[in-house]
Amino acid sequence: MTKIFNDPSEFAEEALAGFCDVHSDLVRQVAGGAVRRYRPAQPKVAVLAGGGSGHYPAFAGLIGSGFADGAVVGNIFTSPSAQQAYSVAKAAESGAGVVFTYGNYAGDVMNFGMASERLATEGIAVENVLVTDDIASAPPSESAKRRGIAGDFTVFKVMGAAAEDGADLAEVVRLGRKANSLTRTIGSAFAGCTFPGAESPLFTLPDGQMGLGLGIHGEPGLHDTDLPSARELGQELVARVLAETPPNAGKRIAVILNGLGSTKHEELFVLWGTVAPLLRAEGYTLVMPEVGELVTSLDMAGVSLTVTWLDEELEPLWTAPAETPAYRRGNAAREAGTLGAEEAPDDGASAAAFVATDASRGYAAACLAAIEAARTSLHDAEERLGRMDAIAGDGDHGRGMVRGVDAAAAAASDALGRGAGAGDVLAAAGDAWADKAGGTSGVLWGAGLRAFGETLGNTSAPAPSALAAAVTAFADRIVQLGKAEKGDKTMVDALLPFASAFSRGVGYGVEPNQAWQDAAREAAAAAEATADLLPLKGRARPLAEKSLGAADPGATSLAMVFAVMGPHFTAAAVRNAEETVPAAAPAGAKQ
Ligand code: ADP
Ligand code: MG
Repeated sequence: MTKIFNDPSEFAEEALAGFCDVHSDLVRQVAGGAVRRYRPAQPKVAVLAGGGSGHYPAFAGLIGSGFADGAVVGNIFTSPSAQQAYSVAKAAESGAGVVFTYGNYAGDVMNFGMASERLATEGIAVENVLVTDDIASAPPSESAKRRGIAGDFTVFKVMGAAAEDGADLAEVVRLGRKANSLTRTIGSAFAGCTFPGAESPLFTLPDGQMGLGLGIHGEPGLHDTDLPSARELGQELVARVLAETPPNAGKRIAVILNGLGSTKHEELFVLWGTVAPLLRAEGYTLVMPEVGELVTSLDMAGVSLTVTWLDEELEPLWTAPAETPAYRRGNAAREAGTLGAEEAPDDGASAAAFVATDASRGYAAACLAAIEAARTSLHDAEERLGRMDAIAGDGDHGRGMVRGVDAAAAAASDALGRGAGAGDVLAAAGDAWADKAGGTSGVLWGAGLRAFGETLGNTSAPAPSALAAAVTAFADRIVQLGKAEKGDKTMVDALLPFASAFSRGVGYGVEPNQAWQDAAREAAAAAEATADLLPLKGRARPLAEKSLGAADPGATSLAMVFAVMGPHFTAAAVRNAEETVPAAAPAGAKQ
């Protein structure tokens, strides 16, 4: 249970600020995360680790010589936004390219992917290395779908050492992927973790039980078993990891016995007393093993065992010196180079003047009212959505949606106050949503709202058909970005029925609010029907069967939000005969 906090929703930001202050000799805070205190004297590949908060020392604790050049720091258990990734990359980049490295989670893949696209358009060489070490999260035949857990540490370490050595971007990426392909982890938990400010843990295990294969966000594991003795636990973990020994693997291994947050070092040493002899008995040499807290999960009680099979390339990188706030090994060269600038990098979001017609400004006020209505209902539903997400996901859906909609409402209100039309108001709302919510639903809602706004434009209040076109653009963008199909058990299952029902209704000349409410009812029914589906996309996928019988949280929140937004969007939608659909404005255009 987290006891020390102010406003729980500010916990991650306040923790980052405190961390950067105490370690100001090694790191400095920038928009979106932190980077090394000193910029390199010569261009070097910037290795940027990332992911949600709550995993310290992952990821910001690993910034420093021989390790990461920066960390993109999301909210607790929530992927950072694309904007955050972009801005950390801009602060860390020194002319030799950037590699984002992170555990394989849908929200991270999308956000780092979008940031990479943006960096590439600016001519910065950028790559992504995903970590997929969690053997409990998918069978070997689907190893690319596995999550990243404590194996993050080994993969990041290898890449950080290679970059420090002067390897170029392609080489750093090759070595990182190789390390990942030779790394396997199995986790287990004895008790759930609790979000700061939450009254109960994200998940609970029956007394005297252990969850095998649990994810670092509390994603349910393979199965629960009676609490074993330390010896039995060690045997189980070793057997499971060695069962996945890569083909042609050597006999020298890096080993991490990792505590998940509230498991004591002494307990880990007791467990090590079984793990190490078993590995040695298999003929392995344990190269600089680590026993401690390296990738945690708030205050979760539990452990994970990671093995990386080393070869002549990987071993020197694993053993190379490093000096970071949370981890020191050997004699790392003290940082040279120049002191980084104190000011936050330009994030490209500088205020521009808005151009809009009065009609569009009038409609923009209705859009803000729609977002405010969404805000009220999401605040009411926060707990419930979180509980739904905890069934097979990580429990952050309620909090993510609330953070997103709060930021969207503030940004929309600000843009409206500065004279923006409906298109710009919704685009600003979308960008703020994506930036502040993070996570999978955050990036999708944010990009969807921006597309909605761009389709509306800033020249007129939309006719019903133009509103339908904007809804369709919202749906298209989310499908394009998330690549989920109908039946994958995601928000798309509520969204597509909504979009087609609304367009159909409007096409038949049904009064817009009526058409919207009809569509919202279809979306709500479709969201409920997701209870019968197995999730095929997103965080819940690895434990698909756990969610059978429970509706998808993202589909549920979408149907709920659309229902309350409707009256605002439709009341002001002009029903005229011309029905001219405003042309989509180019991305970012202020006109
Ligand atoms: P995260 O999964 O990053 O923790 P949230 O918990 O906020 O993010 O959102 C989870 C919801 O996101 C799921 O319930 C699902 O509706 C939606 N989702 C996940 N992956 C996709 C995807 N690829 N496309 C569309 N929606 C998705
Ligand atoms: Mg979630």
